[in-house]
Amino acid sequence: MVNAIPQIVIVGGGAGGLELSAQLGDRLGKKNKASVILVNDTLTHIWKPLLHEVAAGTLDSHEDELSYVALAKLHHFDFELGQLRSINRSERCIEVSYFDCLQKTPQIKLIFYDALVLAVGSITSDFNVPGAKEHCFFLDNLQQAEALQKDFLYSFMQPQADPKMKIEIAIIGGGATGVELAAELYYAAEQFHHYNLGIKDELPVHITIIEAGKRLLSAVPDPIANQVLQNFSNKNITIITEKKVTQVTKSGVYVNDRFIPTHFNIWCAGVRCADYLKNIGGLETTASNQIIVNKYLQTSLDPRIFAIGDCAAFRLPDGKLAPPRAQTAHQEALLLAKSFETYLKKQKLLKFYYQDHGSIISLSRPNAVGQITPQKGFTLGIRGKFARWVYALLYKYHQAILLGWWRTLLFSLSHWLTKPIRLRLKLH
Ligand SMILES: Cc1cc2nc3c(=O)[nH]c(=O)nc-3n(C[C@H](O)[C@H](O)[C@H](O)COP(=O)(O)OP(=O)(O)OC[C@H]3O[C@@H](n4cnc5c(N)ncnc54)[C@H](O)[C@@H]3O)c2cc1C
Repeated sequence: MVNAIPQIVIVGGGAGGLELSAQLGDRLGKKNKASVILVNDTLTHIWKPLLHEVAAGTLDSHEDELSYVALAKLHHFDFELGQLRSINRSERCIEVSYFDCLQKTPQIKLIFYDALVLAVGSITSDFNVPGAKEHCFFLDNLQQAEALQKDFLYSFMQPQADPKMKIEIAIIGGGATGVELAAELYYAAEQFHHYNLGIKDELPVHITIIEAGKRLLSAVPDPIANQVLQNFSNKNITIITEKKVTQVTKSGVYVNDRFIPTHFNIWCAGVRCADYLKNIGGLETTASNQIIVNKYLQTSLDPRIFAIGDCAAFRLPDGKLAPPRAQTAHQEALLLAKSFETYLKKQKLLKFYYQDHGSIISLSRPNAVGQITPQKGFTLGIRGKFARWVYALLYKYHQAILLGWWRTLLFSLSHWLTKPIRLRLKLH
């Protein structure tokens, strides 16, 4: 025991870790039943499923970013800025690196735990394709999304010698992220056109989605994928399936032996966890560095260490792993918040059951397609504005856990009221 009260340390303040910190802070931190500490490597949180909107400029991240320091105060937990480096299981502490601004040197701090929750998320896997790292944009964090937004905007502001030239974009990976990004960039290009940016008369953008699998959106049912195809059919979007990108260069991508000239390459295929997680603290990991957890979300080799969200490998009854999605991270965070509370009352930890509540693919404002499963055995196909509204509601739910329903309502209301005076997209 580190303190008189147990110390629960959560590393990673994303879709799962931040919801867990807020709930544990309210349930245990506030009543002094446990000390809750959140460690994150950035000062602000943005919900990761919004990153494609940030990249297209359809969402200004500054309006939606939340401060960890402020949330810690609101929800009675402590916040530590830093990056997890290693776990010392015998001493029950983690090593966290940070930059000391006074000494101007990198430093390490030790944080002791009675229970540790790893919620550090995942990164995109480039499958070691030559040139991918150097010549592709990725959407793993806010900085990367903002870098793409800037370059995309600037590309519309440059003088073009050839009035017929199109900005060529390759999106590698036709899963939900790739498809939503294509829709969002296309929408942004239309809005640039509205502001007289780029070449007049014709929309100067062409997007190619390259997918190695048989069809787009392999993880969602056929009818949803078909509706997406229908939506893309009257746009400058080309879809290549059953082909792999074998090399990326400064001026384009090789799809097998065929070269496609491009101005932007965005890698959206494949999910894995960062290399430092491989056997971190001697824990058991999968080939893609996910940490293997049991039915209580405890890591397989250490019952004091838990993992949730994209970095956790939780096996479902059908043998597959729970998908790396925000709804998985959210459900695991809810379970663990309750589970710690019961555990402190000397009762057993709770078992995790994943429930797939469906998939919604955003096709930018005001459109989306999807299927929702509000109850087991009852699935509803949705599309258009209503689907987009349900899609937005998922984010509102995340916001409400962090800010409370009243603040979320006021936040949404002020956003709606100021709509007429706000720009259609970020132009700086
Ligand atoms: C563009 C895009 C669109 C998506 N759309 C959807 C969608 O529509 N629906 C859906 O269900 N899912 C979607 N996803 C997937 C979803 O975002 C993830 O499954 C979800 O965010 C995982 O939550 P998490 O808590 O595991 O990790 P994250 O939300 O990624 O959070 C991880 C946190 O850990 C921090 N961190 C990382 N490493 C360290 C370290 N070493 N030390 C300290 N802190 C660290 C990070 O800064 C971050 O705050 C999308 C993903 C992307 C990229």
